[in-house]
Amino acid sequence: MAKKFYITTAIAYMNAGPHAWHALEIIQADALARMYRFLWYEVVFQTGSDEHWMKIWNASKAAGKEVHQFVNDNVELFKTLYKKLDVSYDRFLQTSDEEKHIPWAQLMWNKLVESGDIYKKSYKWIYCEGCEALKLEKDLVDGKCPDHPNKELQIIEEENYFFRLSKYRDQVAELIKNWTYQLEPEIRKNEILAFLEKAEDVSFSRQKSKMPWWIPVPGDEEHVMYVWCDALTNYITGAGFWVNNEWENEWPADIHVIGKDILRFHAAFWPAMLLSAKLPLPKTLLAHGFLNLNGAKMSKTTWNVLDSEVVVDKYWRDPFVFDLLYNVSLNADGDFTMDRLNGVYNSMLIWAWWNLVNRVVSLCNKYWITEWRGEWEFVKDFDKLFESIENRYLKTFDIQWYLQEWYRLVQKANEYITKSEPWKKWKEDATKDEAIKDLQLLLYVIKNLAILSAPILTKWFEKLKNILWVEELKVIDTAKNQDSKAVENAYKLKEFKVNLSPEILYQRIED
Ligand SMILES: [Zn+2]
Repeated sequence: MAKKFYITTAIAYMNAGPHAWHALEIIQADALARMYRFLWYEVVFQTGSDEHWMKIWNASKAAGKEVHQFVNDNVELFKTLYKKLDVSYDRFLQTSDEEKHIPWAQLMWNKLVESGDIYKKSYKWIYCEGCEALKLEKDLVDGKCPDHPNKELQIIEEENYFFRLSKYRDQVAELIKNWTYQLEPEIRKNEILAFLEKAEDVSFSRQKSKMPWWIPVPGDEEHVMYVWCDALTNYITGAGFWVNNEWENEWPADIHVIGKDILRFHAAFWPAMLLSAKLPLPKTLLAHGFLNLNGAKMSKTTWNVLDSEVVVDKYWRDPFVFDLLYNVSLNADGDFTMDRLNGVYNSMLIWAWWNLVNRVVSLCNKYWITEWRGEWEFVKDFDKLFESIENRYLKTFDIQWYLQEWYRLVQKANEYITKSEPWKKWKEDATKDEAIKDLQLLLYVIKNLAILSAPILTKWFEKLKNILWVEELKVIDTAKNQDSKAVENAYKLKEFKVNLSPEILYQRIED
């Protein structure tokens, strides 16, 4: 039976349509989901929307729309982008879903209550009218808002429910330290361990009179649940909490993919809530950095904003996805420029990759080479790569490394064809056999490279499948597995009279 793999993204706020960083996150998660399917896992990939927020309520009023309509319209914008990016999610959970989410978020609340971890206390908020935001003591300078020193701050005192995060902080820290809850990349670990050392209890509710659009606290008419028990719980309600009050379906998640700005909630609050509710923890948390544009922070006020849909319309989905995954490291903030994408497209993907496919397939067509063979040095390269997918990729989820390895082999194949010159060898009777061997090897190489590109270059792989007669897109086709009859049948190239005309499949794009 196939092993299960449950992957989620963070849920996006539905106060507006998607932003470029949503694109980065969904692209990363999609690559992981596809990679695991590729490795024969049975994958469930969940994404969704966070819909209870004052800003959303206010934005719906400003737009003159009923709030459900407003969030659903925004959900459609996200789904349109995800379709363009060929995102292979299985589920899209909306937190205003009255059947699948709300009752089960309330059930989660009750589980925390049962453990004695929810209590009421009076709480003082400092509110700055200028910022329209709550402030903490430490934000103030001489008792004033630093941005609005002339405005009188308001003190709002109200009763709220709190969650005993302090009770679980040591336990959560221990689980992170001993890798039971794996944080990737590892640089995020120290940050969260420092936070956990001093973590205090967290406010878990608000007065209903102020927040008309939030989930009611069970058994208390006057309070609604603040974001934590509502939004974080989506990962488990989506997995089928509602089926029979059990969590066993897909939970626990194998990996949550999030942005580093919400690390604290996922690495501290969420595991503490799960411990309190006596539910298993997710296995891994992968926190990516921010995405800048042209070396600067993206901002609507400076017009420095990346519109992923416009870019995809010009360069297609695959080059855009490849560029982000190849060039943005999980360990740091990333950058995007059109110049770089243009270079990736023209020199790496069109020149190095498609041109290689084109040359090999054209030569094989011309000389009637119908068999692929991998008996030489190159096979070892693929063996090594296939092995390290298991040893390295499955442990650290490092997509960038995977693509670097893939591209290194593309370059190596280009060097091989240039150096071996099979078209010259073909002309002499003495070297004709060598030419055949060269081309059979190159055929083996591009077929494997095509299979390896399948989880990332999804649209192009659909074309390659027909050109190379690769019927299955799952990995296994290593030399060491070639003995297996089943594998052989699944992957054997059919008679290699390909339906590719010897013309260039894709053209360069000028700036
Ligand atoms: Zn202020």
